[in-house]
Amino acid sequence: MSSTPSPVVLVTGASRGIGRAIALHLSRRGARVALHYGSNEAAARESFAALAGTGHALFRADVADPAACERLVRDVIAHYGRLDALVNNAGIAEDDSIKTASYADWQRVWRRTLDTNLVGPANLSYLAVQHFLGRGGGRIVNITSRAAYRGELTAQSYAASKAGLNITGQSLARALGADNILVFAVAPGWIDTEMAASALTGPGAKDVLAQHPLGRVGTADEIGATAAWLALEAPANLTGCVIDANGASYLR
Ligand code: NAP
Repeated sequence: MSSTPSPVVLVTGASRGIGRAIALHLSRRGARVALHYGSNEAAARESFAALAGTGHALFRADVADPAACERLVRDVIAHYGRLDALVNNAGIAEDDSIKTASYADWQRVWRRTLDTNLVGPANLSYLAVQHFLGRGGGRIVNITSRAAYRGELTAQSYAASKAGLNITGQSLARALGADNILVFAVAPGWIDTEMAASALTGPGAKDVLAQHPLGRVGTADEIGATAAWLALEAPANLTGCVIDANGASYLR
């Protein structure tokens, strides 16, 4: 029997959707999951109960708040005595259509989206990297989006935040490769979660489906499997990659 302790992976936004699926896959691969959530404790407890194996723990924080990010990483490291990988999954997608939004709404959505989807993950990366530097390496996986490349008609700040997160991760991959710190991204297309529910069931649902040669959108489970593999096993030479996971609905 191996005496190597199982890796510890912090997954943000694991109370629901893609984050829950990532946590599940990590637990099935033997990792201990620091399962983070924002406000939905009941859902986070459901995620927690579904995990395989032992050694998992729940952590709450608003990733848009820099002080809360600091507490989160500190608490995870205090709890486990180590952190092996960070998965930046928590995110929001809000309508900021330039033709209909008031200027005040436009300001609010841009600020909230960038703080949650870009600055939060950048802050968590900073904090994790300080720990990784002292222990010979670590991994970061960012969940970005097809929107980063395709653009979005009614969610410009969302697309900008995801493009920003791609290049933030790629910059870190270049800056930190020599320190054995690897940074990857997965860029999903439409995935069947609460975030996408209105687009997948509303009046535009037929058009969304028509974008997909597989005849269906992606599943959280598919992104979970990909992100867990990146966080634990992917070859080092993939650092800096952005894996498109959109069922060939948008090719670049
Ligand atoms: P979801 O079902 O809406 O879940 C979002 C998760 O993020 C929840 O766990 C939520 O926590 C957490 N969260 C949101 N804001 C937060 C904040 N300020 N602080 C802490 N946690 C916060 O979304 P999803 O579809 O699983 O999406 C997960 C990631 O995949 C996001 O980054 C999203 O942009 C990306 N993505 C999704 C799709 C899609 O079609 N679904 C496509 C491409 C990319 P609580 O529930 O506890 O509040």
